[in-house]
Amino acid sequence: MSEAKTGVYPGTFDPVTCGHMDIIYRAAKVVDELIVGVSANAGKDPLFTLDERLAMMAAEVSGLPEDVAGHVTVKPFDNLLVDFVETQRASVIIRGLRAVSDFEYEFQMAAMNARLNARVETVFLMASDKYQFISSRLVKEIGRLGGDVGQFVSAAVKEKLERQFAGVGGGA
Ligand code: ADP
Repeated sequence: MSEAKTGVYPGTFDPVTCGHMDIIYRAAKVVDELIVGVSANAGKDPLFTLDERLAMMAAEVSGLPEDVAGHVTVKPFDNLLVDFVETQRASVIIRGLRAVSDFEYEFQMAAMNARLNARVETVFLMASDKYQFISSRLVKEIGRLGGDVGQFVSAAVKEKLERQFAGVGGGA
């Protein structure tokens, strides 16, 4: 049984949203083993540290139904995505597509990754229409301004966001 297909779903996950989890759930049905690659991505100046993003993602994944969670592993990476994919012996990169606005960037990245490693295919998945509009960037913006992000992230992530912004704004 050397046919098992491993996929990598890479992202910053700053923080993980219901949209990301919907993609993970779907991706786990497409590949045999899914590795969620949490990118260090210092260039994006994330709100949460890599360790915090990893811990949040691991907690979310452990809350998935057992038959799904059993095939999903969460790992950090800070090298080139195609190199990470190679070291994980994966052959598929999973990306989520939301609106047309994602398309150009995702298209360029998939094409460049294909040039860097022709053995790897990028597969795009769409989240449910309930979650498609969610972005980590807007979740942070809403959280920063004191809005309720409860429909976009889990209760645990919501609490992390509230604590983060209370600490930053209130000096508590
Ligand atoms: P990155 O910093 O690599 O863009 P993100 O953490 O923002 O990473 O997102 C990871 C992946 O998940 C990207 O492919 C992004 O398009 C996808 N994604 C994020 N939010 C959603 C959503 N609500 N629905 C579908 N795909 C999404």
